Amino acid sequence: MNEEKKVKSMKVEEKEVGATLYNLDPIIMKHHYEIDYIHSYAQDSPFFAGLSKGQILGGKCPKCGATYATPRGHCMDCGGKTEWMELPLEGTVHTYTTCYFGGEEFLDETPFTLIMVEWPGVETLFLSRLVGVAPEDVSIGMKVKAKFKRLSQFKPTDVYFVPTSE
Ligand SMILES: [Zn+2]
Repeated sequence: MNEEKKVKSMKVEEKEVGATLYNLDPIIMKHHYEIDYIHSYAQDSPFFAGLSKGQILGGKCPKCGATYATPRGHCMDCGGKTEWMELPLEGTVHTYTTCYFGGEEFLDETPFTLIMVEWPGVETLFLSRLVGVAPEDVSIGMKVKAKFKRLSQFKPTDVYFVPTSE
């Protein structure tokens, strides 16, 4: 048997499964995608552990005194290694936006409000969700307080904010 004949007899194995087509021009079809993603929070782990205990942990630079409202291993100003510090659970809306679209996980919840939370003496802001206020009623300077999901998912969405008047 020569090489050419061998090649002609080879075939790609096919399954008796068709495609689920929603539209032809342009083609829109269903494609199942699923994955278990194992990853490390590394140096940010204490922040997520804090959320599970009802704490928001920011960072402070012992060298120059810079303060951060988010996990930060090293200081943006001087490069020093930061230390954890607990942030107050009540803060102020520095700015906000209403989201009418979002990632798949959040699509069912649109429109929702994202806020940047500000704390006195903390030099950066914290991005979170504001719940329980109509978009037209949100305002800069509004006092807000943190709430935590009862069952931690160890995700940034474990914490969200509501107006302090609630
Ligand atoms: Zn520093």
